[in-house]
Amino acid sequence: MTLWQQYLQPKNLSQAREALASAPKPLALIAGGTDLMLDLEQGRHEPVHTLIDVTGIEEMLVIEVRDDRLFIGAGISVNRVAQDPLVAAHAQALTEAANLIAGPQVRNVATLGGNVAHALPAADGTIALLALDAQAEIANASGIRCIPFHELFLGPGKSALKHGEELLVGFYLPLKQDHQASCFKRIMRPQGVALPILNCAVWIAREENCIADIHIAVGPGGATPFRATNAENTLRGQPLNDEAFAHTLEALLAQAQFRTSARRASADYRKHIAMGLFKDVLETAWERAR
Ligand SMILES: Cc1cc2nc3c(=O)[nH]c(=O)nc-3n(C[C@H](O)[C@H](O)[C@H](O)COP(=O)(O)OP(=O)(O)OC[C@H]3O[C@@H](n4cnc5c(N)ncnc54)[C@H](O)[C@@H]3O)c2cc1C
Repeated sequence: MTLWQQYLQPKNLSQAREALASAPKPLALIAGGTDLMLDLEQGRHEPVHTLIDVTGIEEMLVIEVRDDRLFIGAGISVNRVAQDPLVAAHAQALTEAANLIAGPQVRNVATLGGNVAHALPAADGTIALLALDAQAEIANASGIRCIPFHELFLGPGKSALKHGEELLVGFYLPLKQDHQASCFKRIMRPQGVALPILNCAVWIAREENCIADIHIAVGPGGATPFRATNAENTLRGQPLNDEAFAHTLEALLAQAQFRTSARRASADYRKHIAMGLFKDVLETAWERAR
């Protein structure tokens, strides 16, 4: 079965934007293909005429500090993200998430951009980037722009990117300052190499014994990658003790919309395990931020 008629491999953003504007439609972007190839083969993705491969675009293969932000190209493999020292220094939650995505074979080809663009509410890299307050850089035929990360998502598997017209170039993260830290963990079946039953990422800024600022992301906690904003508001400005934790957990569970998924877990089970996972991630980030 032929899944496409034309395969384009732009080498830079200008060639990619030209391809988006003029290549025969329908077209799709392909990175590692670990999601897309299955979706095309199994009929979950509409048939395509043209595939545009984004893994050779030089501007999307860079990890570097730009002014006061860390830039991570969307075409970089999950494995490279997992091993990069700048990511480890500034975005430990992302290093931890990248190390847990699938197994080594998938990590070698799957990209961070593909993980995000697929728009699954529990994608591990996505949940880490959400807690790290990323900005997403997007290119289309007419220009390049940056948007807050959460604006990328419309629903399960549905990103706000204009299909076949827009490309994720990369992600900007704030550089880590003193007394800031992050952590990512997930709960999965033993030796599971797929999306988790539940994951959680926390970024924290500590002022002695108080939480000056906090971001909490949980997946899957709703139709889109979920930021537990009510729980964040409960903890901001508070010391971390049992009473504060209990109120925060209550706020998180009230706002999250856990659902039952046939292959992974029931909503009740997810609710049940959320406390232990969240506590573990929160306390680890808190200790790291000393
Ligand atoms: C066995 C297996 C295990 C897995 N385990 C996990 C796991 O543990 N955790 C997890 O989070 N995921 C997991 N996944 C899902 C998948 O591997 C990841 O989401 C991966 O990061 C997708 O990246 P990719 O480069 O392969 O994307 P692709 O399959 O190439 O693309 C995915 C989607 O994103 C679009 N896209 C790709 N790049 C861009 C871009 N730069 N701009 C705009 N759109 C783009 C494509 O058009 C497509 O719609 C697993 C998959 C498999 C097959």
